[in-house]
Amino acid sequence: MTEPAMRTDDPFAWPFWEGAIAGRLLVQRCGACGSHQFYPRPFCLACEALDPVWVEVCGRGEVWSITTVHVPVFPTLTPPYQVALVTLEEGPRLLAGIEGPPCRIGDAVQVGWRERPDAPPLPVFHRTEM
Ligand code: ZN
Repeated sequence: MTEPAMRTDDPFAWPFWEGAIAGRLLVQRCGACGSHQFYPRPFCLACEALDPVWVEVCGRGEVWSITTVHVPVFPTLTPPYQVALVTLEEGPRLLAGIEGPPCRIGDAVQVGWRERPDAPPLPVFHRTEM
């Protein structure tokens, strides 16, 4: 994906991209109830408290939904490739590419980073052995 769903020129999302540059996967955590959330918002989805803070998560998750793309969509991605919704251990779901061996729903995955020449790295996931 050359154009991520979360824009890199959105100042509200910039902490996420700063984390990506440092190889750290960040999501928001509510200071009032402890819920994690992604995408970023100015309030907690669980309790509506304001100003959730950015925290690093472990990067492990499970494939919740997945599809294989067979037609060319982006010039930089040669089909077939997989795109998955990954449920992080901390709870939030991320839409991200899968690299390495093909994955199925329920597979354990770990985050990695796809470097890009003109933008912060993108989080991608690869299958881990259980
Ligand atoms: Zn909360």
